[in-house]
Amino acid sequence: MATKKMKVLLVNPPNCGRSIPEEEYGITSIKQIFRGEPFSLEVLAGALTDHDPLILDLKCETEEALFRTLENFQPDLVGFTALTCEANKVIRLAAGIKKQFNPVIAVGGIHATYDPEYFNRKEFDYIFIGLAKKSFRDLTDSLAGGGKGASIPGIARTTPGRPLVYIPRNFNNDDLMDKCPPRYDLVTRYRSNYILEQLGLKMGYVITAYGCTHQCSFCTIPRITGGKYLVHSADTVVRDIQLLGDIPFIRMVDANTFGNPSLSLTIYEKIMQAGIRKRFFADVRADTIVRHPSLIKKWKEAGLYAVIVGFEDVQDARLAAYNKKYEGHIIGKAVSILHDTGIVIVGDFIASPDYEESDFRKLEDFITANKIEIPIVSILTPLPGTKLYEDMKDRIIIDDLDYYTFTNAVVKTKIPENLFYETFAGMVKRLHEKTHKS
Ligand code: SF4
Repeated sequence: MATKKMKVLLVNPPNCGRSIPEEEYGITSIKQIFRGEPFSLEVLAGALTDHDPLILDLKCETEEALFRTLENFQPDLVGFTALTCEANKVIRLAAGIKKQFNPVIAVGGIHATYDPEYFNRKEFDYIFIGLAKKSFRDLTDSLAGGGKGASIPGIARTTPGRPLVYIPRNFNNDDLMDKCPPRYDLVTRYRSNYILEQLGLKMGYVITAYGCTHQCSFCTIPRITGGKYLVHSADTVVRDIQLLGDIPFIRMVDANTFGNPSLSLTIYEKIMQAGIRKRFFADVRADTIVRHPSLIKKWKEAGLYAVIVGFEDVQDARLAAYNKKYEGHIIGKAVSILHDTGIVIVGDFIASPDYEESDFRKLEDFITANKIEIPIVSILTPLPGTKLYEDMKDRIIIDDLDYYTFTNAVVKTKIPENLFYETFAGMVKRLHEKTHKS
């Protein structure tokens, strides 16, 4: 039981990252901008029912707002989330905060989960490894009672200069804290920034499940839950959709929505029963679409507008190297089902630094021939802590995490680097023009 109401400032870092194509070759068209609400922070705030959380989204504010907020709010605890390309920026921000205000500072998110030692430094007090909804709540309660959060699994107390020691967390459904909804209200003032660019309409985030039981070599999702797939109840999902009020687009931010088809069917039924009229976006695996076409059709009735499918590549050898666990012919089948159902396809593809010009051509031909409405091509990036990193670490030529934005080749390219980026940029430009013509 908490003894003090803790003031907790949760900070979403600003857009950051550097671009080799721009810095070296003047190619400005390949950029990665991360948009959308800081959902993971809204989830953490939702669990802090006995405390006073505040969210600051530095993707929508200037950095001065951070120091102004610290001055006015005087938080006891500051929590950062960070993608890999945001890690250095978060360290710099934490250093400034420690020096001036000296609150307890914690960091979590993808990079902390996959490479916790990176944050084992004096700027931070705690590092969260994996899904932190309950562990962050437990730490806040402990600090409120004068404790130090000793022995809470999934949290490492920093020990600069010495290796981290912590108890790994055995994640289970208690970590979802189903009864505590995300604090959407804490980002109300930013809501006009969270839009679906193509249509200029507001978009809100909902999650149905955390983690993934697959093990794609490049992916940073499975370890969030220790390799488990933890699902919210259908009622929880419907509650959260309704909490978003009149926002017309809902992005299911699970990395593998429909990973539990029977739950997805129940959610569909509850959406229909509740008379909810929204348009939904969901990330779905190609083989899930092929195995469950009737589920996709039902969800179309419920408002499924677009699916984001991580096709990754069209060549079987590369799909196997990524441990995707299906072959290229599955992709063609999934595309047909989605087109027949009238669902927009957002296709994620990965260009390997080993790509030659012919590989780019094959990918472009595939995307064009299959009429993938919104293709998104990123550059294969071995994020520290992943299996891909282990496989490729001897070939990495850029260690600076500011470049780990999925738009830089941090591994030596097979063809000359300038030719790689020019070919990549040319393909992206043509695909973009085709998308906007159709
Ligand atoms: S890429 Fe998708 S299917 Fe593969 S491990 Fe990540 S979330 Fe799971």
